[in-house]
Amino acid sequence: MEDPTKVTIPARLLGALHAEAAKAAPREACGILLGNGHDIERISPAANVHSEPEARFEIDPRALIDAYRDARGGGPQVLGYYHSHPAGPPEPSSTDRAMAAADGSIWAIIGLGRVEFWRDGPSGFVPVGYSCPAR
Ligand SMILES: [Zn+2]
Repeated sequence: MEDPTKVTIPARLLGALHAEAAKAAPREACGILLGNGHDIERISPAANVHSEPEARFEIDPRALIDAYRDARGGGPQVLGYYHSHPAGPPEPSSTDRAMAAADGSIWAIIGLGRVEFWRDGPSGFVPVGYSCPAR
């Protein structure tokens, strides 16, 4: 996460994020972004265990524990998280801002047919550009 202004994500993973959002609707999809540095290399879909999954999300804690354990064991790093807004724009909601940990993680939000990336930084969410690497 050296460069705070952008990330890379393969086009097929952008497609997968849209597919996850469509599959979960009208509930919010959620999951974990894995990779190295500022390169997102995998997404790990997780159950949304929030009691109001149409309007909120909570990533299954078991999935987070597993992802961090894998990272410590030499697997890809946990770069951040994704979730969908079934009826809203791909911007952090007031709920998202209240949940933010200001830990520098990347948040991908899917909404209104778009995916946008944000960094959960010390002064709030900031937009992060992305590019799709040529393979
Ligand atoms: Zn949200």
